Amino acid sequence: ESKSRLRGGITGFEHEMDGRYIEQQKLKADLREAVAAGALSVAFQPMFKADGTRIECAEALARWVHPEKGAIPPDVFIRLAEEMGIISDITRFILFKACSECMTWPDHIAISVNLSARDLRDNDILAVVSEALSTSGLKASRLHLEITESCLIDEPAAVRAILAELRSHGITIAIDDFGTGFSSLSYLDTLPLDIVKIDRSFVRNIAEDTRRLKLLCGTVNLARELGLKIVIEGVETVEQLALLNKHRSADLVQGYVFSPPVPSKEIGILSQALSRRVTQRRRSKVA
Ligand code: C2E
Ligand code: MG
Ligand code: MG
Ligand code: MG
Repeated sequence: ESKSRLRGGITGFEHEMDGRYIEQQKLKADLREAVAAGALSVAFQPMFKADGTRIECAEALARWVHPEKGAIPPDVFIRLAEEMGIISDITRFILFKACSECMTWPDHIAISVNLSARDLRDNDILAVVSEALSTSGLKASRLHLEITESCLIDEPAAVRAILAELRSHGITIAIDDFGTGFSSLSYLDTLPLDIVKIDRSFVRNIAEDTRRLKLLCGTVNLARELGLKIVIEGVETVEQLALLNKHRSADLVQGYVFSPPVPSKEIGILSQALSRRVTQRRRSKVA
C-alpha cells in the first residue's frame, strides 16, 4: 500500500512538473510573440536630487501586460528572454523608446537604461546605442546605462573595453543593485564607472538597525572617495529619506517615497510641478 502511495506521489509530482513546464513554454511563446509585435511598454521611474527639489534622471523599466495573465514582472520575463536569446531585441526596443521619450522631457533630465549580461557579450551594443542616439537626436550625455555585476562574470576584460568605449562617447555608466550578490568593492575602482546605485536591500532596515545604517554609510563614503556619484534605490519612507539626508549619503534618490515608475508624460509634469514649487519657495523667502 505504501508503495502505491509513493508511486502515486511521484506521478503527481511529475504531473505537476509537466504542467509547470508546459506553462513555461507557453509563456515563452507568448513573450516571443509580444517582443516581435513590439507589444512591450516602458515605465519611467524618476531619480530625484536628495532634497527632492529636482528630477535629474529617469530609469526605463520594461513592462509586459500578458493578454490573459496581466502584468508579468520584469524579473520574470527578462530572465526568460535571456534564456531564449531574445534579450537583445528587448534592449533595443527599450533603448529606442527610452531615448525618444527622453527627448520630450526638460533638457536637464537624463534617461537610464538597463543592460543585461548578454548585451555586453556582443559588440553590437555599441552600434545599437549609437543608432538609438542618432535616430532620436538625443545627446550621448543624456544617456545612462546600468549594468550589474552579473555582466562581469564571463569576460571581464571584454566588458571593460565595451564600457570604456561607451564612456568615451560621453555616455554615463552606472553599476546597478550594488551590494547584492558577489559585490566586490574592487569593481568600484577598476571598472570604467560614473555612478553606483546602492541596492534597496541596504536601505530596508536603516531606520531600525544602526549597523545597517553604518554599512550603508561606509559603502557610500568609499564609493564617493573613488569619485563616484551615489544613487540610493528603493527609498520608501520619509524616515529613511531623513536619515540619508542627515548623513548626506545620497546624491540621487530613487524610490516610492518620491515616485513609483510612471508613464513618460508624467516625468515632464512632475518636473514642472517641482520647478514651480521651488520658484514659489524662493519668492516667498524674498518677500
Ligand atoms: P532595477 O534595475 O534595480 O530597477 C529597480 C526596481 O525596483 C524596479 O522594479 C522598481 O519598480 C523597483 N522599485 C523602485 N522603487 C522602489 C521602492 O521604493 N521599493 C521597492 N520595493 N521597489 C522599488 P521592476 O520594474 O519590477 O524591475 C525589476 C528589475 O527588472 C529591474 O531592477 C531590472 O533588473 C530588471 N529590468 C527592468 N526593465 C529592464 C530592461 O529593460 N532591461 C533589463 N535588462 N532589465 C530590466
Ligand atoms: Mg536598474
Ligand atoms: Mg537596481
Ligand atoms: Mg534590482
